[in-house]
Amino acid sequence: MTISLTGCAKTFPDGTRALLPTDLAVGDSEIVALLGPSGCGKTTLLRLIAGLETPDSGGRIQLGEEDVTALPVESRRVGIVFQNYALFPNMSVRANIAYGLKMQKQPRATITARVDEVMGLCRLEGLADRANTMLSGGQKQRVALARAVAPRPKLLLLDEPLSALDAALREVLRDELAGLLRTIGTTAIFVTHDQSEALAIADRIAVMNTGRIEQIGTPMTLYQQPASPFVASFVGHAVPLDGKAEGDEWVTGAGRFRTREPAGNRKVFVRPESLMVDETGSLSGTVAATTFMGTHHRVLVAGLNPAPIPATYRGSTPPQRGQPVRLAINADEALLL
Ligand code: ATP
Repeated sequence: MTISLTGCAKTFPDGTRALLPTDLAVGDSEIVALLGPSGCGKTTLLRLIAGLETPDSGGRIQLGEEDVTALPVESRRVGIVFQNYALFPNMSVRANIAYGLKMQKQPRATITARVDEVMGLCRLEGLADRANTMLSGGQKQRVALARAVAPRPKLLLLDEPLSALDAALREVLRDELAGLLRTIGTTAIFVTHDQSEALAIADRIAVMNTGRIEQIGTPMTLYQQPASPFVASFVGHAVPLDGKAEGDEWVTGAGRFRTREPAGNRKVFVRPESLMVDETGSLSGTVAATTFMGTHHRVLVAGLNPAPIPATYRGSTPPQRGQPVRLAINADEALLL
C-alpha cells in the first residue's frame, strides 16, 4: 500500500517543534528508513504515520486512496514493531502472534492457519509453545515482526528494530531483517540512527536533521550525490578538507589535487575510503594512529586539518604513528558541497 504525507508538522504542547512541515511519499512494497541523529524528529514522524500523534493543522496523511489523518491508531491497519518488542510476557509465541487476529475476531481456523503461515515466513517453526521469556534476542525480534504482520497490515512501522541487540548480533540480523521484510512484501518504514542499518535494509533513505527531511534517495544516491554537508558526513562519514579552490584544483596547506570540476564557492569533502595512503599521492601528512580493520588499515593523518582525518591503507606494511605519509584522492571521489 502506498502512503503519502503532505505538510505534516508537529509542535508539542510545550512549544517544541519536533517536525517542520514535511512531505513524504512511499511506494507500494517499498522499504524506507528514517535516518538521523538523536532528537531530529524521526520517532515523531513515525508516530504521526502510526496515528499515535496527530499532525498540526494542515497536515494530511493518506494510506492508499484513504485519508487517515483523523483516524486513531487502531483504525489505520498499521503493524508496529517497537524498539523493545513489547511482547506479552505471559503468552506463548503462538498467542503473541495470534493476538491481533483475535482482536479482529477472526474465526479460530483462520487464526491458526495465518499464525502457522507467519511463523513459517519468520522462521519460527518449532517455537509456537515457547514462552517468550525463553527466546533469544533474534527470536524475540522475529516474534515481534510476526505479531505485527499477522493481521495483514497495510503498512509496517518499525522503531529502531535492532537497537535492543548487541553489536555482533545486530550485524547478522540486519541482513536477515532486510530479507524478511522483502519476503513479507508489506510497505515498511523504519527508524534508525545507524547508517549501516539504513544502507543495508532500505530501498530509500530519508536523512533527517533538526525536524526536517534533508534528503531522500536510494543508498547509492545519498552516498554518491549527497545534497548537503550534513548528509555527506552522516552517510559515509565524509569530512571537509581545509583549503581553497584554484581552477579545478583544491589547494590545501599540505599539497593540492584535482577536482572533477572547479569547486568555486563549494567546499571539498572526502571520505576515508577515498583518501588513500599512497607514495605517489600529492598530499602530505603525518600518521597519528593506525587501526587494522580486517580488509584494510584505517590511518588517522595529521597535518591537513586542525584535527587528524581518516584515510585508508591497503598494503601489507602499514605506516606507523609519527611516520610521514603521502595521500592520494581520485578527482571523482572528492565531493563538492
Ligand atoms: P531519538 O533517536 O533520540 O529517539 P528522534 O529523532 O526520534 O530521537 P524525536 O523523538 O522525534 O527524535 O524528538 C524530536 C524532538 O521533539 C526532540 O527535541 C524531543 O525532545 C521532542 N519531543 C518528543 N516528544 C515530545 C513530547 N511529547 N513533548 C515535547 N517534546 C517532545
